[in-house]
Parts: sequence; C-alpha cells; structure tokens
Amino acid sequence: MIEIKLEQLSGESKSGNIGKINVKIGDEIKTGDILLQVESQKGNVSVKSNASGIVEKIVIDEGDRINIGDVLFEIDGVQNEECTKKTGGFNYFNTLMKPQKKEIEVDITIIGAGPGGYVAAIYAAKQGKKVVVIEKEHVGGTCLNHGCIPTKALVRSSEIYRNIKKADSFGIFAENISVDMKKVINRKDKIKNQLKSGIEYLFEKHEIEKLDGNGKIVDENTVFVKANRTETTINTKDIIIATGSETSTVPIKGIDSKNVLTSKEALNMTSLPKKLVIVGGGVIGMEFAFIYESFGVEVFVVEYADEILASLDEDVCDEITEIAKENGIKLYTGSKVEAIDETENGESIVSFIKDGESKYISCDKVLVAVGRQPYFEGLGIEELGIEMHQNKKGIQINEKMQTNIPNIYAIGDVTNILQLAHVASHQGMVAVDNILGKVKNIDYSAVPSAIFTEPEIAVVGITEKIAREKGVEIEIGKFPMSANGKALTLGDAKGFVKIIKNKSTGKIIGSTIIGPHATDLLSSVTLCINNGLTTEQITETIFAHPTTSESIHEAALNVEGGAIHFAE
Ligand SMILES: Cc1cc2nc3c(=O)[nH]c(=O)nc-3n(C[C@H](O)[C@H](O)[C@H](O)COP(=O)(O)OP(=O)(O)OC[C@H]3O[C@@H](n4cnc5c(N)ncnc54)[C@H](O)[C@@H]3O)c2cc1C
Repeated sequence: MIEIKLEQLSGESKSGNIGKINVKIGDEIKTGDILLQVESQKGNVSVKSNASGIVEKIVIDEGDRINIGDVLFEIDGVQNEECTKKTGGFNYFNTLMKPQKKEIEVDITIIGAGPGGYVAAIYAAKQGKKVVVIEKEHVGGTCLNHGCIPTKALVRSSEIYRNIKKADSFGIFAENISVDMKKVINRKDKIKNQLKSGIEYLFEKHEIEKLDGNGKIVDENTVFVKANRTETTINTKDIIIATGSETSTVPIKGIDSKNVLTSKEALNMTSLPKKLVIVGGGVIGMEFAFIYESFGVEVFVVEYADEILASLDEDVCDEITEIAKENGIKLYTGSKVEAIDETENGESIVSFIKDGESKYISCDKVLVAVGRQPYFEGLGIEELGIEMHQNKKGIQINEKMQTNIPNIYAIGDVTNILQLAHVASHQGMVAVDNILGKVKNIDYSAVPSAIFTEPEIAVVGITEKIAREKGVEIEIGKFPMSANGKALTLGDAKGFVKIIKNKSTGKIIGSTIIGPHATDLLSSVTLCINNGLTTEQITETIFAHPTTSESIHEAALNVEGGAIHFAE
C-alpha cells in the first residue's frame, strides 16, 4: 500500500485547505495525474500523484484543513520510479493488476451510510439480518461530515463567543476576547471524527460489512461495487437506496468564481472574511448568518422570497427577522441575484435586483445556500426503471418506503420528501420493519424540525399558516419567553411558544417554539402530537420549575382559558 502525502505548498505555507478532489475510490491513477487542489494563504497548488495504481482510500475530504506531511490517499500500486522500471509504461495495471473478483450473499444491501443508511443497517443487523453497507465517501454521510453536526459545532462556538461578548450584563468581565477559527474548525473535526469512529465501531460490533466504493444496482437482487481493485458482486434479497443529496446550484453568472463557497467549504473556513454575502435565507443560510455574525463578520443575506425562513408562520418570521436585524445581519428579501463578479483586488461583487432596482454588495466571500437535490448518480436506477416523482426530483416511494420494485426501498434525502436527518433514520427503520415482515406505514404528521439560529426555532406538525390554508378550524395558545423566569435568568428571553389545537378534536396538531433551547423543548410537544394528546392534557401535567418548558404548559393554558403568568 502506498501513501500519498502532502509534500509541499506555495511559499512558506505549512498548511492549507483541501479544494476540489479529482479522484474517487476505485479510480486508476497514473504518476503525474492531478489528484486535488490545496488552497493556502500563499496560493493554490495542484497535488500530483507520485504513484500509479488504484485509489484505495481517500483520507481527506474537500474543505479539510491539512498540514505538510499529512496522508491524502492510499494507493494500491507502485511508486513512480519503481513503476517505470518495472513496466516501462502504464499497461502494467491492465496486465499485472487485474481486479480481484468477489461474490457475497446477504439479506440486505444498503447503498449510502448517512443517517438513513447507517441507522437502517444497525437496526437490521440487531434483528439478525446479514447486512452490507456500501459507502463511497465517509460513514455518517452529509449529516455527520458536512451538515448537522459540523454546523452545530460551529453554532456552539459562536454561541459561546456571543455570550462572552455580553458577559458584563451577568456581572462578568472578560477582556481581549477573540476567535481562533483554526481551533473552532479543529474542535468541529474532533467531534465529527469521534462520531464517525462510533459508527464504525457499531458496524464491527454488529458484524455489518462495509464496502468502500460506488454501489450500482444491476438488478433487483444484484448490486455491484468496484473499489480497492476488488469488484464485488452482492447477491441480495433486499436493497435500500440511501444515497442522500447534493448541493443545488442556480444559474447565476459567476457562481463558480473563486470566492464562492457552498456550505461544505463554509464549514472549513479557517480565517474569517470581513464581509460575507449569503445567497439564500433558508435554514442553512440563516444558520450560517448567525454563526458568522456572532464571530464579527459583516453578513448580508440575499433571499428571493419575501421573507427569510419563508415556510414559517408570519409571527415567527417577524420575530427572527427583527432579531437578525438587531444583531446587524443585513437582509435583502424579494431579491434576485443576477451575478457574482470578481474585482481586480480579489473581492467579489454580488449584483441583485430588488423592487426593480439593481443593487450591489462587495464582499470577500459568497456563500450559496439555495438548497439540496437528491443524488443518484451512477446507481443505475434509470436502467432499472425505478420511478421518480413527477418532476424527477426524488425517488418515488410508498408509505412502506418501497419503490415500484417491491424489494428495492429508498429512504432519506434521495426521496426528497423531507430533507432531515431524523426523517432519513426513521424511514430507514420503517423500511427494515417492512423487510422483516412487520407491516409499517410511515406517518409524517408529527415530524419535528430544528433551526439553529440564535434563538433557536423548532416546528412540529402543522403550522398556523398551513392550517388556515387548509381550512382546519384551530385555536392558538401563545406564551412569550419574556414572561418565563428561567429564560430571564438565562439572559435569553426572546421568542415564544405557540401551540395549535384542532378545535373539533381538542388535539394538539402543531407547535412552533422560538427561544432558548427551543429545539430540545419541542420534543415534549412532538410526543403529545404523536400520541394524539389534547391541550387540556398538557394543562393537567406538572412541569418542573423553573424551566423554559413551563412556557409549553402556559401556552396550553392559554388555549384552555388563559395563561397564569401573562395577560394579553
Ligand atoms: C449544512 C447542512 C446542515 C444541516 N443541518 C441539519 C440539521 O441540523 N438537522 C437535520 O435534521 N438535517 C440537517 N441537514 C440535512 C441532513 O444532513 C440530511 O437530511 C441527511 O444527511 C440525509 O441523510 P441521508 O442518509 O438521506 O443522506 P446523506 O447523509 O447525504 O448520506 C448519503 C451517503 O450516500 C453515499 N453515496 C451516495 N451515492 C452512493 C453510491 N452510489 N455508492 C455508495 N455510496 C453512495 C454518500 O457518499 C453519502 O455518504 C443539514 C444539511 C446540511 C448540508
């Protein structure tokens, strides 16, 4: 096995960020091939291969921070001089290094090891199934490597910084505080790696075989994986597709220019830009807006819709918009980005139209956060005739997670129903239950979602807006955090709890919480909705004092005749 390491960078640089990686596991490479780009403060370098062979392992990831001497790839092959000596050319691999062929028999083949795939694998293996998981990059998928967990690690660092900045209001004085983004990113990577090792340990413990490489479905009982000079044919009873999603782009002039980042790169910025324009004021865009604003970056959000976080109720949008503005985030809603141009001094100009007028913002980085689309490249689903949604925006499944081929299931972002990690995991368990013969239908009526702005926002069930659109007769109970003792002691008393009751049944059908720890608070309301509880049953429950959860009790009391600690 040959390790390809980072040998040098531009100028005196000792470390840099991984840019685009040009190869994937299983690729055959030759000496001199450009494997990847590394960006350092002194400029970009292309890392060339000093070996020929098959890429067996990709140790790094786009956006990672690396130092000279770090291992980048593991190659099954030979180092350059040796290669030329032995072979005199590159037909060597076609003759001597024929791929090994392997055939295995399993119960379930899972393609993709994100929160959909890896949870399904563990759940199935615990129930005695022989499972193989195919993963082309890293276990944990988008969620663990470039999504939920890395963003929340950054959210936490930004929260700490925000709290220290206002420490004097608590009677605590701190001087000369500053942010070291390298440490922020290192901390994030440590958490990510710890969780990745955890999944790998669980795979081992439950005897789940993991194959590195790209999975391709040949027919409903055969999956093929080519990697590590090994071509594996898997004979399988059932297949679960869990291949996730990829970043969407929009046809904006200059979208590929140097200063433009996706969320993946934004999670690895080891130095802070002075000015950041975020294109897209949805969940991902707004989480980054609050993170970078807290770190002292001047943040501009340009959003096409008339509101940021437009799927939320108007009162929630108004609250978070006001807080964002108070914090200094500049919001341009109802605005269409036309171009991102580079200037002579290396900055970018974002041009957009708002109310028919052209506007321009100069900045050093642009984060494009306009959504994600299902990923199924090379899976072979078109040849197999697997049906998609009408707009081709996701694999069509029924309530049991089955595609139109009954023993092929699809879960998670690739189905494009709700792009959330916990939905992917739950769908995975539903798919496995059906494979095991337990008839299970998924129910999406109590799916929580969490937005890690500052303060957090959490929504479950139906929103007020949707209930009214659908003509559902509802009653609303609201309670402001400013009337909650615990929120006041936290110094974080913005926001409110809103509970939506179905007037005819008395049952809780939705809730939105904006405020401190909203994302954790929401789980008790989720449990209520999932079990068909009424607001009256909440009022009869004793909530601990002093806790922010008392606001849920108060919001329910508000529906049932009036809150105790608040009068409108
Ligand atoms: C910045 C960001 C923040 C987010 N924050 C949150 C959050 O706070 N909460 C939340 O619920 N969700 C969040 N999400 C969304 C969440 O990450 C996804 O909903 C979730 O990861 C979907 O899981 P999945 O298993 O369907 O797919 P993924 O996690 O995308 O995993 C799919 C896996 O399949 C592999 N794969 C693809 N094709 C093949 C193939 N042919 N062969 C082998 N392997 C293959 C991929 O390499 C990948 O590892 C966030 C996303 C982003 C980008």
